Amino acid sequence: MDKRWVLAVLVVGIVAGVGFYLYLGMQRTFGRSSRVVEWIRNSSAHPDWAVQAGARCAPDAPFLMPTGGLIGYLWDDSFQAGKRHQGIDIFGGTDVGQTPVVAAYPGALTRLPTWKSAVIVRLPSDPLQAGRQIWLYYTHMADPNGNSFISSEFPPGTSEKYIEAGTLLGYQGNYTGDAANPSGIHLHFSIVLDDGQGGFLNELDINNTLDPSPYLGLSLNAKLSDGEVIGCQAPGQ
Ligand SMILES: [Zn+2]
Repeated sequence: MDKRWVLAVLVVGIVAGVGFYLYLGMQRTFGRSSRVVEWIRNSSAHPDWAVQAGARCAPDAPFLMPTGGLIGYLWDDSFQAGKRHQGIDIFGGTDVGQTPVVAAYPGALTRLPTWKSAVIVRLPSDPLQAGRQIWLYYTHMADPNGNSFISSEFPPGTSEKYIEAGTLLGYQGNYTGDAANPSGIHLHFSIVLDDGQGGFLNELDINNTLDPSPYLGLSLNAKLSDGEVIGCQAPGQ
């Protein structure tokens, strides 16, 4: 066969393969989307879909579940081609300002002066990699207009305030920065890497975040998920 044909067949094959891989990934995300929509419409019909705030989902998991509800979206989900989700989204199934958000792990809490819906907690030593500093980011704790649901203990400008695991941080909201386009009511939770100079890297890039699976003791990596509801097997649940 002509070499150019071989090359053309190879290129077409690679493009088709990559396309199919992206398609499969997005299919799984679409599957989770339909469950999120069903949950938001009628959470009371699916009490077994919910995890509980403060639960430890595996005996060796260092983090507590930071809020209650359906774990709707996972780390590395793709809402559109090329965009990768850097954390997990937990949907309370309630109205805004009702579902509590608690600290997954002790640390030093900062809320930048401009932050309406988010706090970040510094962990001087990663419980799964001693000596490495990491950060826990909690966001969407405000209504569409930016009215904050963060606890009054942590006003804008709070810096390095020590908190215990389980401390109430605030309540789930749907703030996105665009009042005309709020999100579903949820908490976005992510584990952010340190910049090596005592600050945190940009949370919006998945390469600056960690897969939360081993920290919460659940399968939270979209690429490894079987698409089933993610339940917490903590005692008493
Ligand atoms: Zn999210």
